Amino acid sequence: MSTAPLFERVALIGFGLIGGSIARAAREQGLANEIVATARSAKTRARIQELGLVDRVVDSNAEAAKGADLVILCIPVGACGTVAQEIAADLRPDAIVSDVGSVKAAVVRDMAPHLPGSAHFVPAHPVAGTEHSGPDSGFAELFINRWCILTPPEGTDPKAVDRLRAFWAALGAKVEIMTPDHHDLVLAITSHLPHLIAYTIVGTADELGQVTSSEVMKFSAGGFRDFTRIAASDPIMWRDVFLANKDAVLEMLGTFNEDLSKLTRAIRRGDGEALFEHFTRTRAIRRGIVEIGQDSAAPDFGRPHAHLEKKPE
Ligand code: NAP
Repeated sequence: MSTAPLFERVALIGFGLIGGSIARAAREQGLANEIVATARSAKTRARIQELGLVDRVVDSNAEAAKGADLVILCIPVGACGTVAQEIAADLRPDAIVSDVGSVKAAVVRDMAPHLPGSAHFVPAHPVAGTEHSGPDSGFAELFINRWCILTPPEGTDPKAVDRLRAFWAALGAKVEIMTPDHHDLVLAITSHLPHLIAYTIVGTADELGQVTSSEVMKFSAGGFRDFTRIAASDPIMWRDVFLANKDAVLEMLGTFNEDLSKLTRAIRRGDGEALFEHFTRTRAIRRGIVEIGQDSAAPDFGRPHAHLEKKPE
């Protein structure tokens, strides 16, 4: 399906999983007359050129932003303030400036003071991803049926918000609007805490003396394997997420620790009823997620399983 270009020039600053996926999907959908991209390292810029997914690859963030009516920062959240400062003087007066960061209040705090008043700042977070990163990891289908949360500051021109909403909808996403603080609280429980737990448990298993690491790998299908996928996520991105969303994560972590203590107590006391009730409730949550189309109903996340060979008659 193709739509009329929504933007004359889209600038992608940063070209990893998210920037690369936006480029692929926007090109497929014909959402911009021109897509310009840049990345921090010469190596990534050369790779973008080789991939041939954008119209122009430029060497600096300011050059990318120049003349673009939509500029999207697709970089770690900790770098957004510095880059906003770098591009501010070269922005088109009516440019829409956005980002894709997994934390919103810190990004607004870091970027907004640098942007000229005439520009329209509409922060965004596509709630979609994988554990892969870099320019080769993107794919056009990443955002289909996933949510993209916009957190425009109060007083943002609604027309700019609508244009960005239309852009994300054309990439396949469902769009919702929230305040940055609410976004950070919701994502602290749905994304940031699960990542922290995965990072913890994989680290703990790795350090266990009684169980050798070869056994941890060998028997990983017992549950551990699913945590390792999350724990393989980009260390820089996730370092920045926890630094930027400290308060909300600590709040959720407090609640989590209380709940963990309750389950610990139930195990210690042999309280099977409490364990059963808890696990029944969580099973229903998984079913709810599948029902609203946020995951597949296929067992074991749809992983292929080998078949037993038929015994010769
Ligand atoms: P990625 O694959 O690692 O790509 C990051 C890009 O940012 C690369 O082009 C990198 O350039 C550039 N970059 C890194 N540090 C920079 C700096 N200090 N200044 C300027 N550019 C810099 O990352 P990603 O997964 O696309 O994540 C990008 C953003 O999307 C993050 O803010 C993250 O929170 C958000 N996000 C990620 C996911 C996910 O699942 N991965 C989901 C939703 C949102 P080089 O290659 O040259 O180093």
